[in-house]
Amino acid sequence: MKYHIIIFGCQMNISDAERVASVLETMKYKEAKNINEADIIAIVMCSVRQSAVDRIFGLIEKLKKLDKKPTTVLTGCILKKDRKKFIEKFDYVLDIKDIKKMPQILKPTSYKVSDGTHCKIDNYLDIAPKYSSKFSANVPIMTGCNNFCSYCVVPYSRQREISRPAEEIISEIKKLVRKGYKEIWLLGQNVNSYKNGKINFPKLLKMANNIPGNFWIRFTSSHPKDFNNEVINTMAIGEKITPYLNLPIQSGDDKILKAMNRHYTVKDYKNKIKALRKKIPDICLSTDIIVGFPGETKKQFENTAKLFRDIKYDMAYINKYSARAETAASKLKDNVSIIEKKRREKLLTKILKQTALEKNKKIIGKTVEVLVDSKKDKRLFGRTKEYKNIEFNSDKNLIGKFIKLKVIDATPWKIKGKL
Ligand code: SF4
Repeated sequence: MKYHIIIFGCQMNISDAERVASVLETMKYKEAKNINEADIIAIVMCSVRQSAVDRIFGLIEKLKKLDKKPTTVLTGCILKKDRKKFIEKFDYVLDIKDIKKMPQILKPTSYKVSDGTHCKIDNYLDIAPKYSSKFSANVPIMTGCNNFCSYCVVPYSRQREISRPAEEIISEIKKLVRKGYKEIWLLGQNVNSYKNGKINFPKLLKMANNIPGNFWIRFTSSHPKDFNNEVINTMAIGEKITPYLNLPIQSGDDKILKAMNRHYTVKDYKNKIKALRKKIPDICLSTDIIVGFPGETKKQFENTAKLFRDIKYDMAYINKYSARAETAASKLKDNVSIIEKKRREKLLTKILKQTALEKNKKIIGKTVEVLVDSKKDKRLFGRTKEYKNIEFNSDKNLIGKFIKLKVIDATPWKIKGKL
């Protein structure tokens, strides 16, 4: 019996899929070479955007046409309101926290659909995942979110925050390092609010950094309200903690930030960046932005553009606002036209392109540490310790290895290196 997994969404979903694979393998399923071979297909879905939800309906039509008529299991981030519609289309609709129960649930005599209650937490994060990479591993440290940003469905689909026991996380990292993993991603919807007894996020970072071995530590996502000096100091002294930070600002206007329920001001955010750059001057900085939030005027958007020019990000994930059911913002009038949203997105991309290019040009001639992750003919690709995309030529198979490259050229989104 064979399985195939389809993943939508973020790194956390990739990590969840690794646990789904692990449970299916304990049920004696083997990974199918392709979708046509599969007896069971698990879909790890994302609810962050309506377009992602709509794609699931398109996918189910394709799955129905497969010759083998596989069993279909839907899991991941599922909103309560969508669950009913999906139950009609899929054989099983499981809350991600219920994947541990798959061996019982998938037996024909068992119940067909998980009850979807969230009060009883079965710690699915303690399932040993089937890692999809041999050198870079996702290690969830917490799941869920307590923040209720007004545009976001995560608190509804993943429920409240639960932090994983620190000893379990550290033991997982130790095992990965022993196996030769070079990059550990600590994942969570808001890693900065991690709390397990007396251990907070900076303490957990220190514990991970103290594990002997040659590896890098990265983490995502951070929330500016919880990102503090203790994290900055830990990043500055932890030689394994990479000088890269994604700190989502979402808007450069205080009124919009308030409407988004973000609990910080532009000034607070800028002060944190200032403190961070003081301790780690070469930090590579990225952010997330939503353009066209309900009621965002041209002037308010200009504040975001100004912030982009002031901060000079290396990278950014720019999203056009779209309403998500169940969220507070969905009750507001989505009054910025799609044309205007696209214009705002384009303008921010233009600023970003300039600042990213300026910053990448500054490292031409320098030697950078790189983790090689893929290859196409003689072209190899990787990420620098600062998480910049880098490309170089070599005949050697260096995938999964740390190497040093001299930077010889730069574009906004990529640098070029030489061995
Ligand atoms: S912090 Fe806000 S944007 Fe991030 S997952 Fe929580 S509610 Fe969503």
